[in-house]
Amino acid sequence: MPSILQVALDTPLPRLFDYRLPDGLATVQPGSLVEVPFGRTLQIGVALGRQTDSTIVADKLRDVIRVLDDRPALSPEILRLAQFCADYYHHPLGAILLATLPPRLRNASPFAADTPWLVATEAGRAAEPLARAKSQRALLDALRAAPISRATLREQKQGRHAAALVEAGWAAWSRVPPRPDDAPPTTDAPPATAEQHAALDALLPGLGAFGVHLIHGVTGSGKTELYLRLIDAVLADGKQALVLIPEIALTPQLEQHFRRRFPERRFATLHSGLSEKDRTEHWLAAPDCDVLLGTRLSVFAPLPRLGLIVVDEEHDGSFKQQDGLRYSARDVAIARGKQAGVPVVLGSATPSLESYAQALNGRYQLVELKQRAISQAQLPDIELVDLKHIPVDNGLTRPALTALGETLARGEQSLVFLNRRGYAPALYCPSCAWVSPCPRCSARLVLHRTAHRLKCHHCGYETRIPSECPSCGNPDLKPLGQGTQRLEETLAAFLPAARIRRIDRDTMRPRAWAELGEAVHGGEVDILVGTQMLAKGHDFPNMTLALILDTDGALYSPDFRATERLFAQLMQVAGRAGRADKPGRVLIQTAFPDHPLFRYLQRHDYPGYARALLAERKQLELPPFTRQVLVRAEATTMDAALAFLQRAAQLAPDDAGVSVFGATPAPMARVANLERAQLLVQSASRQALQKFVRDWRPQLEAIKPRIARWSLDVDPLVF
Ligand code: ADP
Ligand code: ZN
Ligand code: ZN
Repeated sequence: MPSILQVALDTPLPRLFDYRLPDGLATVQPGSLVEVPFGRTLQIGVALGRQTDSTIVADKLRDVIRVLDDRPALSPEILRLAQFCADYYHHPLGAILLATLPPRLRNASPFAADTPWLVATEAGRAAEPLARAKSQRALLDALRAAPISRATLREQKQGRHAAALVEAGWAAWSRVPPRPDDAPPTTDAPPATAEQHAALDALLPGLGAFGVHLIHGVTGSGKTELYLRLIDAVLADGKQALVLIPEIALTPQLEQHFRRRFPERRFATLHSGLSEKDRTEHWLAAPDCDVLLGTRLSVFAPLPRLGLIVVDEEHDGSFKQQDGLRYSARDVAIARGKQAGVPVVLGSATPSLESYAQALNGRYQLVELKQRAISQAQLPDIELVDLKHIPVDNGLTRPALTALGETLARGEQSLVFLNRRGYAPALYCPSCAWVSPCPRCSARLVLHRTAHRLKCHHCGYETRIPSECPSCGNPDLKPLGQGTQRLEETLAAFLPAARIRRIDRDTMRPRAWAELGEAVHGGEVDILVGTQMLAKGHDFPNMTLALILDTDGALYSPDFRATERLFAQLMQVAGRAGRADKPGRVLIQTAFPDHPLFRYLQRHDYPGYARALLAERKQLELPPFTRQVLVRAEATTMDAALAFLQRAAQLAPDDAGVSVFGATPAPMARVANLERAQLLVQSASRQALQKFVRDWRPQLEAIKPRIARWSLDVDPLVF
């Protein structure tokens, strides 16, 4: 009887593959990475179950080539979490498993981790080594002060003593490097505010078991402080904390804050902005760290002693991956917490309606912080500038300019928020109305004047700025509308004395964020101009004015989540104004001052607006009261994309509880020369929808003729 190994491979097929295990490899464990022949190539796969039997005839079975034992196997927890994702997102297990690994570990070439560090264990810190073992004692003392690298130990000929300490359980090899020499000064916890006290009293008893807790706290109410105290409690128990945050840019800032509070603890960060080498090292370090701080991909990191998951800014759209495995890291975090029996704490000033509805119906514990932690810090006044009655000059009104000028004169800082990066949203020909189309998408090319380029923000296409209209030859082309670059220029013209800085995806590398933060704190910036990136993170005490331009597109958008998102953004931007002892002011330019969103915003009434939106969603049978799955199809012609989806609709299983809507062109109908169409499926029951899609998927795979690409998006956020 041959021994058969089931292997998960990164293929589009939702199945496992059988291989024969040669005798020498008989000890391979589930989760190990193996190299196997696949077609005419070799592939890395993940070893799963063992069997004695295969449906494949014996002489067609191929051999596992080798086990990649230079890297750790995926743990049973991660295998289980990936299986959940495969079932829930209807995505191939192998593709998910391999995607959980940093790219370097998916590569077959030999791998050697950097020299590990020897660190003192908890036992080693408490231990009293025997008096006669003098060298051991000296080494342990040294380790208590700082980890020592293997190379140093070798140089100092300490190998034998190191081994003895490891043997005794007083030291351990770790992949975590020591704290840098410039470790920041430590800070103590401030005494908790009354609200924080009440919140902790509510949260701490839940720490031992799975449960979802939603902290709804206004900006500046001290949510981060609550996370720190919860983490502290979990670490004291010898467990690990996973902290998920939406933006790479925020990791250095938050990491520093955490390190100051827990100077003795081991941290690791994981995000796609790390070099490949660092990402690999940090991933390998994760099992030994105390706190892992990272963006959505870290939800799959190996954490054997996991005791708490925190999802900060849980409403943020960047927790949802928009290609491949279209997972929501928040939802996967909850699944992981459930599997591991670990509490999950979600936090936001503007929770997603999905989470808020669960809190209102009692499935999540709701914990509220209604006041800012620093008692003098008042919530800002929010004023509307009615664009129907007040003229606009280059995107700015007189009241807006006056407010900026006054703030500048007081030596305080302003931020100007415009959700469009680039110089102008398009280049325009006044004589024939040509408006810089992207040749590959149904979108406009955005004018980037400093780079002298027109760029497509959807497919990446770029070209130089034409010297005349490509359609009629008119040499006098004009920018159409305002982007942040042009706004920066306009502001500089109006307020020549102001020191203006712009932040958006075009200017911001993660390092630049920290540097900008320091510049703002140091008073080197008067006006900060930017896109939604502005709404996140930083806490600038001297920032007393927030000016918000051009938000009206979202008020009457066909996307049913547009107002939810806009409200969250505006609350976050408003939350940036007046955080310390200075009162803040928010000015919003809008042509629709009567829109109900502004009424709630002016009262800082998230719960009120959330309830109003939920009532509307319920009436319209939209999420969170229904569940959705979107089938996306891309083809060289729209007809082919629609035909695929129409066929899909015909093949849909019969289930009265599931509605299948008509196939339609996507709102962005063409991207990168592919026509895109979509088909929405919806049900009030998550289980019914899951079963429906499970039965449906094989039918979709069999549809002929094939098209360029199709995919399932479970719980889609953008359409
Ligand atoms: P949030 O995450 O809710 O926006 P933070 O945790 O960043 O709020 O806290 C906002 C500000 O209040 C920070 O400057 C923080 O240091 C301060 N703060 C938080 N809790 C306390 C407290 N208990 N006492 C004094 N200051 C606090
Ligand atoms: Zn023209
Ligand atoms: Zn394009």
